[in-house]
Amino acid sequence: MPRIYKFECDTCGEIVDIGEGDRIYVIDKNGKRIIGAHSMDFRFVKRVLRESWGYNGSFSIDSKEYTEILKEKTGKVHTCICRDCLKKFEIDVELDEFICPACNSENVCLIHDFVGNTCPKCKEGKIRKKSFGIVD
Ligand SMILES: [Zn+2]
Ligand SMILES: [Zn+2]
Repeated sequence: MPRIYKFECDTCGEIVDIGEGDRIYVIDKNGKRIIGAHSMDFRFVKRVLRESWGYNGSFSIDSKEYTEILKEKTGKVHTCICRDCLKKFEIDVELDEFICPACNSENVCLIHDFVGNTCPKCKEGKIRKKSFGIVD
């Protein structure tokens, strides 16, 4: 089960993000990415496959058909943050460009790489990553 983290300022306690840093998504019939709650949210994957694609086959991970569908219709988005305007957004690092959707800046990084940066709020503390528990 995935572990989630809190990305928090060690001085003022500002929380930049809570999460794993990445989440699974399924492409629906309209080509839209539907994003799950976390990276191993297979209950959600099954629901979208059933509701959007009418997939009624075996959801067993050993089934070749299901494995193919997962490869074709799912991916992972990573939480990113813009160092210029501090917008948080999610991209598939294998498919998307590292560009901020709000200000077009290329000065963006994965939320995990934001650890150690100066806090955007108090401008004094540093962002730390702390374990925040396990989700299922
Ligand atoms: Zn701070
Ligand atoms: Zn930006």
